[in-house]
Amino acid sequence: MTSGFPKTSPPEGVTEAEWRDWRWQMRARVRDAAALEGFADPVADERLAIEQLAQRFHFVITPYYAALMDPQDPDCPIRRQVVPRSAELQDPAGLADPLDEVAHSPVKNVIRVYPDRIAFCVNNECALYCRFCLRKRMVGEPGWAMKQRELETALAWIRRTPEIRDVLLTGGDPLVFSDDKLAWLLGELRSIPHVEIVRLGTRLPVTLPFRITDDLCRLLERHHPIWLNTHFNHPRELTAEAAEACDRLSRAGIPLGNQSVLMRGINDDPDTMRALCEGLVRMRVRPYYCYQAQLLEGTAHFRVPVEEGLALFRSLRGRTSGFAIPQYVLDTPYGKVPLQHPFFRGREGDDVIVESFDGRLWREPNPR
Ligand SMILES: *Cc1c(COP(=O)(O)O)cnc(C)c1O
Ligand code: SF4
Repeated sequence: MTSGFPKTSPPEGVTEAEWRDWRWQMRARVRDAAALEGFADPVADERLAIEQLAQRFHFVITPYYAALMDPQDPDCPIRRQVVPRSAELQDPAGLADPLDEVAHSPVKNVIRVYPDRIAFCVNNECALYCRFCLRKRMVGEPGWAMKQRELETALAWIRRTPEIRDVLLTGGDPLVFSDDKLAWLLGELRSIPHVEIVRLGTRLPVTLPFRITDDLCRLLERHHPIWLNTHFNHPRELTAEAAEACDRLSRAGIPLGNQSVLMRGINDDPDTMRALCEGLVRMRVRPYYCYQAQLLEGTAHFRVPVEEGLALFRSLRGRTSGFAIPQYVLDTPYGKVPLQHPFFRGREGDDVIVESFDGRLWREPNPR
C-alpha cells in the first residue's frame, strides 16, 4: 500500500517513537527562524518575512512537514507553502475575508451559503499555518476559538434548523482536537436526526499523518456516515506516512477526497498536477476540487490567471484516469462555481458540436 512513497526520517537526536507521536510533533513545532535552521537554511527574505509577519499571521510548522522541505532551495514547493516571504506584505487587492464568510454566519463560526449544508469552523487551530490559508483571519487567533458554550450554541442552531443534512467540520482543523472532544462533538451531531452526513475537512494526513491513529479511526467509525476531504497540493507531500494515514482512514470505511489550491510555482504546471492527482488515486484519495486561489490578503504571489488554470485541467482530460481529475472551482460568496473548458461548442441546426480531449470536433444529432 505504501510502496513507492518515500519515508521521512527523524532528525538527529529524535527517536523514531517520538517522531511518530503526534503529540511530540505538536510540542516540537518550528515557530521561529532559529528552529527553522534545523531543517533549512533560511534566506534573508525569509528571515525578514518571519520577523515582519510575526504579529499578522504566525509561523508554525510541524517537524514532519519541515522535513519535506528542500534545505537549500527557498522556492521549494513545500517550503513556499509554510515559510513566509516578503511578497506577503505586498498585496493591495487582497481581502481578509474574500468570501464574506462572517456575513454568512447565523451563529459564530457556522458558515451557511447553501440551504442544506454548512461549514462549521469548530477549531481555530491547525498543526501548521499555510501561507495561503483562506481562514488566516481565524487560524491561531484566540478571538476565533470556540468556547464550549459557543460550540453548544452552534449545535443548538443546527438542531433547530431541519434543512441542514450535511455538516462539514472544518476550521482550522477539527482533528487537532483530542479524541475525547471529537467523540463528544460527533456524538452530539449524530443525536440530531436531520444531520445525515458529517464531513471532516482536515490537512492532518498531509501535515501530521501520525495523528491518524487506530484509536482515532475506531472513533470515527462509530459515527458513520463520515466523509473526509484532505488537502494535498504537491506530489512531494505523498509520503509513506501520508499513504499509511490514508490507508487507515479508508479501512475505517471513510471515503477520502482531496481539495487542493492552484498556486503559482507550486502546482501550476500540468506534469506536477498530474503527478499529484495520480499519486492521490494510488492512495485511494479521489481528487475532488482544485480551487482557484482567492483574492486573499498576502497571497498575490500565489495567484494564477483563470485562463491558465482552464488550460491546465483541459490538458489533463483524456490523458489520465477520469476520476484523477478534480473539478476546478472558484469559490465565491454565492457558492462554488465550476470552471471548465467549454467542450460543448453549441448547436448547428439539429446537431450539437462537441470537442474531444485531443481537439477534434464531433457532430451529434440532438433532438430539439
Ligand atoms: C465548500 C462549502 C460547502 C460544501 O460544498 P460542496 O460543494 O458540497 O462540497 C458547504 N458550505 C460552505 C460554506 C462551503 O464553503
Ligand atoms: S491546514 Fe487549512 S485551515 Fe489550517 S492553515 Fe492550512 S489551509 Fe488554513
